[in-house]
Parts: sequence; structure tokens; C-alpha cells
Amino acid sequence: MFGDIQKITKSNLLKGIPWRFGVNWPGKRCEAKTRKGTPCQRPAKLPVGRCRLHGGASTGPRTEDGLKRLAASKTKHGRFTKLEREKAKVRAEQGRIIRRELKELETWFIDNGHLKKNWRKDWH
Ligand SMILES: [Zn+2]
Repeated sequence: MFGDIQKITKSNLLKGIPWRFGVNWPGKRCEAKTRKGTPCQRPAKLPVGRCRLHGGASTGPRTEDGLKRLAASKTKHGRFTKLEREKAKVRAEQGRIIRRELKELETWFIDNGHLKKNWRKDWH
């Protein structure tokens, strides 16, 4: 059943290569001070110059793609995206225009005797 799954060994595991190093590893090392007072010496991540233990908290995604993925993961229904809010504004304005026109028509009908002033009350 598990015959076709390749066993992970030291020689075929690619993950973590930047952290796998020995005494003669030539890369940049973390210079954070340990509790012992000595430098940490783990391989440093390039942008921060500290290892993954001393590099501090993530500052979040920077690339266009990363920001897109973040937005996608945080979006539940998209009702409050910029585009949807813009559409809602347009719909609200249309509603205002329609109600304004209806009010104008109502006053015209009342002024010209087609409707009583409190026609809504006597509806039934
Ligand atoms: Zn470190």
C-alpha cells in the first residue's frame, strides 16, 4: 500500500537545505545574542540578517500575488468589497431618484385634484 511512496531520507529531502549546515558552512549567520551570551550562529534569513528564531514576527505579504491570496483568504462573501460598495451606492442613488419622482407625481396628482391630500389613510 505504501510501497510507491518514497521514504524521506537525509539525501533526498530538499526542504530545509538553507538550515542544514555544519561548522564550515559559508553563509551568513545569525548574530542574535543567546541567553548564554554567545551569538546564535544559525543560518540567517537574508532580508533580516537573523535566523528564523530571531527574525521577529512576520510583516505580512508584500507581493501583489501574496496580497491577493491574503484578501482571498479573508473574504467571506465579498459584500463589502470596493466594487460591491460602489454598486450599492449606485442602487441607493437610483432609489432616491425614483422616490423623489414619485413624490413629485404625488404632489402633482394632489394639486390637480386626482388624489385627496391624505389618500393613503383612506386607502381601504
Ligand atoms: Zn538566531
